[in-house]
Amino acid sequence: MADQPECPRCEYTQVEHLADSPVPGTWRVWCCRRCFYAWRSTEPLVNTTADYYPAPFRLTEQTLSDAKNVPPLPPS
Ligand SMILES: [Zn+2]
Repeated sequence: MADQPECPRCEYTQVEHLADSPVPGTWRVWCCRRCFYAWRSTEPLVNTTADYYPAPFRLTEQTLSDAKNVPPLPPS
C-alpha cells in the first residue's frame, strides 16, 4: 500500500487514514486535516493527485482562511 499522500485539493501533507478495503491491500480512504477533502486511493488521478486536481477547485491556505463561515443553524 502506498505511503501517506498529500491532499490533492490543498496539498497539505497531514492527511488522516480513515479506512481500508474489506479485501486487504485493495484501497485506502484518506481525509485532509486542513480542508476535509476525502478520497479513496483507487479513484482517478484527477481526484487523488494534486498535479491533476482541477485548478478551479484547488484550495490554498489563503483561500481557506478567507472562506466565509458556514451559516449557523436556526434555533429549533
Ligand atoms: Zn486539503
